[in-house]
Amino acid sequence: MTGVNEIRSTFLDYFKKNDHEVVESGPLVPRNDPTLMFANAGMNQFKNVFTGLEKRPYSRATTAQKVVRAGGKHNDLDNVGYTARHHTFFEMLGNFSFGDYFKDRAIELAWNLITKEFGLPADRLLVTVYSEDTEAAGYWKKIAGLSEDRIIRIPTSDNFWTMGDTGPCGPCSEIFYDHGEHIWGGPPGSADEDGDRFIEIWNLVFMQYEQTPEARFDLPRPSIDTGMGLERLATVLQGVHNNYDIDLFRALISASEHETGVDASGAALSSHRVIADHLRSTSFLIADGVLPSNEGRGYVLRRIMRRGMRHAHLLGAAEPLMHRLVPTLVREMGRAYPELIRAEALIAETLKLEETRFRKTLERGLGLLDSATGDLSAGGRLDGETAFKLYDTFGFPLDLTQDALRARDISVDTDGFNAAMERQKAEARAAWSGSGSAATEAVWFALKEKHGATDFLGYETEIAEGVV
Ligand code: ATP
Ligand code: MG
Ligand code: MG
Ligand code: MG
Repeated sequence: MTGVNEIRSTFLDYFKKNDHEVVESGPLVPRNDPTLMFANAGMNQFKNVFTGLEKRPYSRATTAQKVVRAGGKHNDLDNVGYTARHHTFFEMLGNFSFGDYFKDRAIELAWNLITKEFGLPADRLLVTVYSEDTEAAGYWKKIAGLSEDRIIRIPTSDNFWTMGDTGPCGPCSEIFYDHGEHIWGGPPGSADEDGDRFIEIWNLVFMQYEQTPEARFDLPRPSIDTGMGLERLATVLQGVHNNYDIDLFRALISASEHETGVDASGAALSSHRVIADHLRSTSFLIADGVLPSNEGRGYVLRRIMRRGMRHAHLLGAAEPLMHRLVPTLVREMGRAYPELIRAEALIAETLKLEETRFRKTLERGLGLLDSATGDLSAGGRLDGETAFKLYDTFGFPLDLTQDALRARDISVDTDGFNAAMERQKAEARAAWSGSGSAATEAVWFALKEKHGATDFLGYETEIAEGVV
């Protein structure tokens, strides 16, 4: 069986052989793009190269990029545990041409890699193209020999990529693998496309236009940007159907089984998968300098951690769990990402501290949740006051409460939640007015809003920690 580490090397070596510079992954916290929460695609680190603001000594590159899609434009957090193909953290393999080769060569390189180097059977593959891009459809026919019915024309923006309102843009083409008719799902563009039968493995972007506020121009030297999910490719190559069944995830899940003593089957399966996924995203985020907090990136990290920790609790873990899985992750991925080795102690300590603290309120919060929803049936809705109390007193991020109720098909009154939050802020302001100098109050409220809810840890620790 070809393991994930070998597949990554084969990909990078193939493009190296084809005159691409092998470039290291950019960090998960983008260096010079404040508009981006986390790196979410391989092209992020090359953004200024594509727009022409920056020059590099090479015009072709290849990377395995660390990506987190849990917030911002792409948010796959709610898909984890429900689809066969989504993670919050994954590796995006890519090849890039900066005004060098274009559509025909990009299609040829991609097709040869997957069918010759990796040996995927052509009759399991199909592609989408942007409906106006007759050129790409023609190349798929000519170069790959695909028949008409395997080239699906999509008229929506799904197959037209833009960097923003202005800048480079162009049609894209996605390569899908058919996992077989025993799995539910329809081809891309059909009503059942969200199923897991036809899974997108690779997305090729043809940057051929420049959009200005006034018009769209042809770029004199068009570019290529591609992204393929390493875990999805491994799924296909290892002859399994679900991303969580590949070698890497099997190692993480068996560590989780070992530490909890609970088999990954039945209801426990999806908890183990969520834990393995969230272990990766949280560990990689910490290794790149993010720490749990109540705002911004740190709050996204905290939300992911706590979701994982609720699943550890569901599995009946009597002690904090996630930090005990870190050595397995480091063993599996440390060679490719040495930052994991360097940060191993910090990752384990951070996870342990967060889980130790959260466990103090988790059980009681779940008790409140149970009693508040005991009478609700599928289709019901939890009131916003209770959701806010869970957030404010028990440290339950709103999305954790929603996640906890999803299996029972109960939603949360988010307007009510927001109203309760606003009311609490207003009450706090009123209670403080006149009790101190205006300057002190301004500082206090700035801090309070910055740090959000205080985690209730029992009276002793609340005072000892001096949290605002
Ligand atoms: P999907 O439609 O399946 O959500 P996408 O079109 O959003 O995928 P792209 O933005 O095109 O994905 O990303 C490039 C590639 O990265 C995809 O073709 C896929 O192989 C992989 N990928 C995207 N999202 C995820 C994810 N959440 N987990 C694992 N792999 C992913
Ligand atoms: Mg997606
Ligand atoms: Mg897609
Ligand atoms: Mg895509």
